[in-house]
Amino acid sequence: MVRAIVGANWGDEGKGKITDMLGEVSDIIVRFQGGSNAGHTIINKYGKFALHLLPSGVFYNHTTSIIGNGVALNIPYLLKEIQGIVERGVPAPKILVSDRAQIMMPYHVLFDQYEEERLGKASFGSTKSGIAPFYSDKYAKIGFQVSELFDTELLREKADRVCDMKNIMLEHMYHKPLLDKEELYQTLLSYRDMIAPYVCDTGVFLHEAIKAGRNILLEGQLGALKDPDFGIYPMVTSSSTLAAYGAIGAGIPPYEIKDIIAVVKAYSSAVGAGEFVSEIFGEEADELRRRGGDGGEYGATTGRPRRMGWFDAVATRYGCRMQGATEVALTVLDVLGYLDELPVCVGYEIDGTVTKEFPVTAKLKKAKPVYEVLPGWKSEIRGIKSYAELPENCRKYIEFIEKEIEVPVTLVSNGPGREEIIRRG
Ligand code: GDP
Repeated sequence: MVRAIVGANWGDEGKGKITDMLGEVSDIIVRFQGGSNAGHTIINKYGKFALHLLPSGVFYNHTTSIIGNGVALNIPYLLKEIQGIVERGVPAPKILVSDRAQIMMPYHVLFDQYEEERLGKASFGSTKSGIAPFYSDKYAKIGFQVSELFDTELLREKADRVCDMKNIMLEHMYHKPLLDKEELYQTLLSYRDMIAPYVCDTGVFLHEAIKAGRNILLEGQLGALKDPDFGIYPMVTSSSTLAAYGAIGAGIPPYEIKDIIAVVKAYSSAVGAGEFVSEIFGEEADELRRRGGDGGEYGATTGRPRRMGWFDAVATRYGCRMQGATEVALTVLDVLGYLDELPVCVGYEIDGTVTKEFPVTAKLKKAKPVYEVLPGWKSEIRGIKSYAELPENCRKYIEFIEKEIEVPVTLVSNGPGREEIIRRG
């Protein structure tokens, strides 16, 4: 059975925790898009970890972790991350890397920085992990596929060719130091040696696993509203964040994905620039940021303070629809126990008309939130194990959200720990 865990919002919904939790009953966990540009926070018996490239299942002995072909593979970063967890007492995880994955090159990271510098104030708020230049090169067909590392003749020829192209940009557009052909080639050879033990035809591996009835988890990064097609373009990421892309980025048939868990945050948060209709500011936002997540809402990769807002039912219903969600995990609900009242954005007013449909960016810029205000529950819900024991107003909040987003809320997360979860129904 293949199941996907994906974000319905702007990312940072707590997918890491849900994946880590469901990893227990999974055989294989696959990352299918993105790279080391976003982080998942996981708390378990080994401690607290911020993973960027490794799937969140690496803490279990019985799981195989796969870096799928859709991922932006930063090889030194991956090895550092593996070493980092092993050093902290986690048993060496079983990791397979797709021979069709493409490689994040050092110049992708540089180009990302240079472009943000060049754009100045108009920048995209990139995490500067090289993601946009990486995917640009992949689709411009000048990326390096893992399999190419093992053909030295092709590799040298291609390294030379790419170097020439990149140096034109470096010299004339960015006025930065040029790349050296020999150095680039040597870097690729060192990458080959580092990654060789992990390389595999993961498409065949997954095909066999599906045939054998294994439990496979596809782990998404970021959320639906950061998808390049359906998100808040251009303030989006450069690979698809949707469960549908899981089939492509892992190399499996789309009809094998039977269950799509959209992770939905009980309030809104976003990193970087872009439209955010239910955003709040000032002391109200500071307090939610301070109390949010586990120890405050600050980016796992950049440490940047996240932008905060009330729950946005318009954006989330759309996010769930684009994900094709079959169920929802509602997270970080415990954080909201301090509030007297909880505004929920149930509509967008655009040019005097209220809509419940999430619009394209040009219209989104004009959208004003229409709120419905629900009473708070004014108590601590951490430690509660069953749905019926949750305070009545808390259940009402969940059920209100469920009605708005039109997907059943089957999991309610009331704390950052692996066990802090309420299964419903
Ligand atoms: P991801 O990128 O979707 O995996 O999300 P992150 O890991 O970046 O952000 C989620 C943050 O919220 C992390 O610090 C988690 O430890 C924390 N978290 C997850 N679920 C809960 C929850 O139910 N309650 C609280 N208080 N924190 C949570």
